[in-house]
Amino acid sequence: MKKTSVNDKGKEFAEKAEKKKAKEEEAFLNSLYKTVKVVKQTEIDEGDESKNFLCQFFKAGLCDKGDLCEFSHDLNIEFNVNLFVETTT
Ligand SMILES: [Zn+2]
Repeated sequence: MKKTSVNDKGKEFAEKAEKKKAKEEEAFLNSLYKTVKVVKQTEIDEGDESKNFLCQFFKAGLCDKGDLCEFSHDLNIEFNVNLFVETTT
């Protein structure tokens, strides 16, 4: 039954390769997550970043946060958020 043993070895090799690939993919995903984390942290550190985005509640006349709102109530900046509006609605 030499053929069987060859097949088993081939299978074993394939499994090992698959595991290696999975590990590499995991590492790649982890590096992606790290990048996302870093980006999020810089956004938080800068704080005023969200003021570049129009408050969608204000636009709809529903925001009662006034100056305390984390988003801008300046309708003139709306063109900055068009992309965000399209993805969130
Ligand atoms: Zn608001």
